Amino acid sequence: MTMVAIFTGAGISTDSGIPDYRGPNGVWRQDPEAERLVTYGPYMADPEIRRRSWRMRLDGPALSAEPNVAHRAIAAYERTSGNPLRVITQNVDGLHQAAGVSARKVLELHGSARSVVCTACHARSSMAEALDRVRAGEDDPACRGCGGILKSATVMFGQRLDPVVLGQAMSIAKAA
Ligand SMILES: [Zn+2]
Repeated sequence: MTMVAIFTGAGISTDSGIPDYRGPNGVWRQDPEAERLVTYGPYMADPEIRRRSWRMRLDGPALSAEPNVAHRAIAAYERTSGNPLRVITQNVDGLHQAAGVSARKVLELHGSARSVVCTACHARSSMAEALDRVRAGEDDPACRGCGGILKSATVMFGQRLDPVVLGQAMSIAKAA
């Protein structure tokens, strides 16, 4: 049995309607200012950046997107190949898991946009719930536990990758 590691990035999700960052219709090409909305320093310092960031997520496709044929092919490979599989992804959309790959076999190097995390107490909760609050009129929802600033559970520009996830990904890449 050979460990198989599949490494994916934004390109696998464009057919699910999630634009990549630097392609022809990429987020940064359409709106260079958008980069500030996902950069840690400005996000933490400026409530207006946070309000725009939440509005961008409300309008975005991330939570409604469905896995496409490529995500499903990887899930089918996991079920049928007999080889141990790990998916190392730069994507934050959760579509590998939505396609049926076991969550413990997916290493999300850049975190997950399906969750939010409190920057003060580090409590995690669901993005869907946070977006419901934004929709209901809280334009910069705070942590319900401690009042801290909430952010998407993704690695923003200016933040480091999670060393634990990165270490696991390195070990898997070497073993594969
Ligand atoms: Zn908190």
